[in-house]
Amino acid sequence: MSDAQNVQKAGIDEKYCSSCGSIIKKEAVICPKCGVQQKSLVADGEVSTKWLTVLLLHIFLGMFGVAHFYSGKTKRGVLMLVLTVGGMIFTFAFIGFAAILVAFVFWIIDLVEIVSGKYTNAQGQVIAQNK
Ligand SMILES: [Zn+2]
Repeated sequence: MSDAQNVQKAGIDEKYCSSCGSIIKKEAVICPKCGVQQKSLVADGEVSTKWLTVLLLHIFLGMFGVAHFYSGKTKRGVLMLVLTVGGMIFTFAFIGFAAILVAFVFWIIDLVEIVSGKYTNAQGQVIAQNK
């Protein structure tokens, strides 16, 4: 038991045991020193599948309101769909571009909501990044 051991710092692939403070492997589920189960980092940092689905649907198909349909917000989905598809049909006229621009602004607002964890489903429940 030297002093050098006491001031030892955890390496990149190491962490401190949540119970006894021993330096253990980052991947360790149970501390080999005291046998206490570590607070699961995987569960804490795990990204919600629902959130990821909403995010990807919104990025790739959000202009068509697909993320809203997935979340059960049909009205918002239809609005996006009408603005985007309607805008595409009427691109020969100014109204078409205006509709697509409005849809794009909504898309940006929704993207910010999803990323910042403020996006809710039809029941008003927040679809956050973490479970
Ligand atoms: Zn321990």
